[in-house]
Amino acid sequence: MKKFLVLLCSLAMMLALVGCGGGEKKAETPKTDAPKVLRVGTEPTFAPFEFQKEGSSEFTGFDMDLIRAIGQQLNMKVEIQNLGFDGLIPAVNAGNIDLAISAMTITPDRQKVVEFSEPYYTSGLIIVVNKTDDSIKSIADLENKRIAVQIGTTGAAKAETVKGAKVTNFNTGSELFMELKNKGADAVIVDSPVAGYYLAQGGSETAKTVGDVMEAESYGMITKKGNTQLMDQVNKALNDLKKNGVYDKIYQQWFGETAKK
Ligand code: GLN
Repeated sequence: MKKFLVLLCSLAMMLALVGCGGGEKKAETPKTDAPKVLRVGTEPTFAPFEFQKEGSSEFTGFDMDLIRAIGQQLNMKVEIQNLGFDGLIPAVNAGNIDLAISAMTITPDRQKVVEFSEPYYTSGLIIVVNKTDDSIKSIADLENKRIAVQIGTTGAAKAETVKGAKVTNFNTGSELFMELKNKGADAVIVDSPVAGYYLAQGGSETAKTVGDVMEAESYGMITKKGNTQLMDQVNKALNDLKKNGVYDKIYQQWFGETAKK
């Protein structure tokens, strides 16, 4: 009997609710074809991966083209934010951004605190010195020298291993080469493609690289630890772009050659 009453009551309530509609059409929720926003963080002083051309606020570079292509693949609207390199991991983990792409090397330490994508670029570190300096030929010659690095990077970690070196950490990648040019540092340790781009863009008038490329590094995009759902989607999109030729096209555009497979 009690059950019957409950049933009767709920039926009455349902009818009342329907009645309330009174013939008016309920406001329809818009169809969600509109792309969702993908909030992306980057530290844009690292040409040719992420930078802003002089006088422009637009983010350009290999990483920027790649993440926009991934966004398109996922039907998401990519919104890029400028953050400090050492602030990227805290920002994804705090949920302030969904993903970071910033020529970030996949390292075991970082893997402990964030999700990394599949590698999307093979890199390494190199030493840059002033063109007139013949005293530095390899990392061994950096002992007791002044080294400029970007804060929180693998280059900074490498510099810390050099005995007696005076290591200065800078917030941006562009400051490193400036410091070297102004003779505030004897050497810079930075990602080799970034050094190559700098030299090719006119830096070779005053600077040069020395020694071999150090460390085998791969770049990966990051999401919050545990956000494998987004990372799976990103990896799938990355793979699709590798298959359909878009990745190669972007690579060629920035590096003038096809990616090593
Ligand atoms: N690849 C280096 C790292 O992950 C440098 C990255 C950067 O300065 N944007 O530490």
